[in-house]
Amino acid sequence: MKEKLLVSACMLGAGCRYDGKSKPIIEKETLDKLCLKYEIIPICPEIYGGLPTPRTPSEIKDGRVVMKDGTDVTVNFCRGAKCLADMANSLGAKMALLKERSPSCGYRFVYDGSFSATLIEGSGIFASELLSRGFSIYTEDDIDSLI
Ligand code: SF4
Repeated sequence: MKEKLLVSACMLGAGCRYDGKSKPIIEKETLDKLCLKYEIIPICPEIYGGLPTPRTPSEIKDGRVVMKDGTDVTVNFCRGAKCLADMANSLGAKMALLKERSPSCGYRFVYDGSFSATLIEGSGIFASELLSRGFSIYTEDDIDSLI
């Protein structure tokens, strides 16, 4: 049986980003290779947390997730992260390929909360939830190692 791999849906072409667009950075040839080895499970924790698309962009600041207009959406981000992680656990998944720099999916680096495109070390809410549960996280820079 193939190992299950959660993948940020926007990287597969789903229009679930804050601006309603996708970020289809996994090319078909690469996806075909991933599909040979893994059972791909597309996920979007922000949509799962009840946020609409399009939506105002958010960043993490002082442990809260706040939209550019000041709306605190921490509850949505945490709910989406926990529910999706529960689902992933119930499916037996242990790996995730996530979109870099997102306040949900970002791994290693996220924006600093000033909406000035400044990166700091840290992970998004969903990536952190998965890490706390022992998941292995990969980003678009790590796809070769997955294949
Ligand atoms: Fe993509 Fe993750 Fe943002 Fe959803 S939450 S749009 S999957 S980066």
